[in-house]
Amino acid sequence: MPITDMTIRDLSQALAKAELSSVEATQAHLERISTLDKKLHTYLKVTEEAALSAARASDARRAKGEAQGTLDGIPMALKDIICTKGIATTCASRILENYIPPYNATCWQKLEDAGAVLLGKVNMDEFAMGSSTESSAFGITRNPFDPDRVPGGSSGGSAAAVAADLAVYSLGTDTGGSVRQPAHFCGVVGIKPTYGRISRFGVIPYASSLDQVGILAKDCADAAIVLEAVSGKDPMDSTSAPMPTENYLEACGLEIRGMRVGIPKEFTTELIQKEILDQLYQAAEKLVSLGAEIEEISLPHSDYALPTYYILASAEMSSNLGRYDGTRYGLRVEADNVQDMFIASRSAGFGAEVKRRIMLGTYALSSGYYDAYYNKTLQVRTLIKQDYDQAFSAGIDCILTPPAPSPAFPVGRMTADPLTMYMQDICTVPVNLAGLPAMVLPAALAGHLPIGLQLIGPAFGESKLFAIGSKLEGPRLLPALD
Ligand code: GLN
Repeated sequence: MPITDMTIRDLSQALAKAELSSVEATQAHLERISTLDKKLHTYLKVTEEAALSAARASDARRAKGEAQGTLDGIPMALKDIICTKGIATTCASRILENYIPPYNATCWQKLEDAGAVLLGKVNMDEFAMGSSTESSAFGITRNPFDPDRVPGGSSGGSAAAVAADLAVYSLGTDTGGSVRQPAHFCGVVGIKPTYGRISRFGVIPYASSLDQVGILAKDCADAAIVLEAVSGKDPMDSTSAPMPTENYLEACGLEIRGMRVGIPKEFTTELIQKEILDQLYQAAEKLVSLGAEIEEISLPHSDYALPTYYILASAEMSSNLGRYDGTRYGLRVEADNVQDMFIASRSAGFGAEVKRRIMLGTYALSSGYYDAYYNKTLQVRTLIKQDYDQAFSAGIDCILTPPAPSPAFPVGRMTADPLTMYMQDICTVPVNLAGLPAMVLPAALAGHLPIGLQLIGPAFGESKLFAIGSKLEGPRLLPALD
């Protein structure tokens, strides 16, 4: 098997048996990046020298019998929103183009401590705002299954890199679907765990009540290994949860007989393309054949999720992005006075989508509109969360839905029409509003494009997602690239 086809478990076994070194695994990926990434543009920065030196250090540890575990020596990539000490972290924005963090995000620090080899930082929508990776200030990323189509977003670089075997796995972030929708578009596994499961210290904030780190991997078992490694309470992030981490790899082997899986009727409307629903119903049949029970359920406030999300996320981002003012971080454009310097720096540094949302969010928070918009969304958010609470307290173990209304769409199709772009998120945003864990896994190819399934679990019920997800996953979907 070519090195770049291998999963984390394949590579880890080969390393343990000394059939392969981490330097060889890293070189194989760097070579593949140098040929294929000219076309796909998944990486914003390849950290070649640092990667090779981390790989050499891993090989040296292993030679001394001090290998750290499954992830030691495995090459991977990080979304460019995750702070890496000494390595530029741009959020795909001109305003942070030259920002070099003086510290590591906790999620990356945990992986680095586990021996991970960072190949580089991957592309995304600017500040994670978008569903196609087209709002990156540094160029678009293409879908490995069809270069004329988008990889999804905002973690499009992460998903495309894993799909094209340019990284064994990748971390992304998911505020309203940014790990799951790209996983669906690129035929890989994406998991957004429960709000609070993974520390966000050092992850550049977008909408703090919704943001969560997630994982993109070649299959469920790989995603399980990485989730366990990055989860847990972090004293540096007061919103990280003290819940014990579980052995998610073991959860992949759990029996699902007797589990109750709900299909919400609000997620199977005419807004979802038929080929997507076909896969959903086939998956339901498979679960029944494995002894699970399928039930139709209702999440009655689902229609309100999209407007609620876009008001709330814009309000939070308009506050979070206030820090980019030419003084504290990032780009500074000089002017005659401080006020004009702020305006010039922000005007030059932010792209159109970010500016649009700053205006929307500032409006929703302004005096006179605060109650009508911001406060109202908080109330509706509670109703949405209660829908899910009720389903789970009635004994549903897991909810099965489509991940998005359609497969990957053509580059440029939605850039002039923000509302249609926002509509891509109808299946994913309710999960973030409710703070729940969800996984997208590839089901099949329709034509040449991947189609995924979404599983939503109760809070801190990631193990259930792995138990069911691993039963539904088939052989890996591979793009015809070589
Ligand atoms: N597409 C959604 C947005 O633009 C979700 C992005 C995300 O999850 N980061 O806000």
